[in-house]
Amino acid sequence: MKITFLGVGEGFDEDNTNTCILVEAAGRRMLVDCGATAPPSVWHKSQRPDYLDGIFISHFHADHIFGLPALMKRMEEDGRTRPFYLFGPVGSQRNVERLMEVAYQGMVAKLPFTLRFRELQRSHRWDDWNLRVVNTRHSVQNLGLRLEAGSPTKVFCYSGDGMFTPTASKLYTNADLLVHDAYTMDGTVKNFKKEVITIGTKTHCSMQQLERLDDMARPKKMALIHVNRNLRKNRNEILKKYKQRRWIMPESGDVINL
Ligand SMILES: [Zn+2]
Ligand SMILES: [Zn+2]
Repeated sequence: MKITFLGVGEGFDEDNTNTCILVEAAGRRMLVDCGATAPPSVWHKSQRPDYLDGIFISHFHADHIFGLPALMKRMEEDGRTRPFYLFGPVGSQRNVERLMEVAYQGMVAKLPFTLRFRELQRSHRWDDWNLRVVNTRHSVQNLGLRLEAGSPTKVFCYSGDGMFTPTASKLYTNADLLVHDAYTMDGTVKNFKKEVITIGTKTHCSMQQLERLDDMARPKKMALIHVNRNLRKNRNEILKKYKQRRWIMPESGDVINL
């Protein structure tokens, strides 16, 4: 299983592309989230219209799904004909189609390829891939994902945005790689004026809470993404602090082979 970080940024980061990850295993390619700023990173990876088999959408926030209209539109222009799969929370079809209609009116009806929506509630078998999801805590419904694929089987887990629950911790147990929202260090961030803003741990996860998750779920590797833009400027100090835990804070373009 090959994981490519196409984007690792939060919603409003001037340096980092919105969270967007490419997962390749068992002859299949799936994108994981595609925010507003993500499509160019996908096109830099490949310009082939049939490069991707599908996408997993964790939740309906602009920095996770607003790249979809451009992604689909370019596939249409470049002549895609084979179906495209969309995995996401209940309501995905309605939300994605509405988004595409606002972006390019009439686009959905004109697409020369089929969109196959799979609204996930627990688990879903996609040929050799096994996807399992649970709800986590965010300001809107958000799915944490466990993906098992390949032989020998490898396990990729992804939090989307939000704070984990006991059920999510169980879902992530023994993952080969857990990619997790690490928006704050301790539930607070600093804004442009250096004022401290309390985010808490009800809508985003903190690195302090991730220590707890790491101890419970014991993933083989943990990647911290969606780090607040001002906090991320201390990347080196954070990595030093967590050296013992072997945590990584990937940059765009980084690849991990599991
Ligand atoms: Zn986000
Ligand atoms: Zn969000």
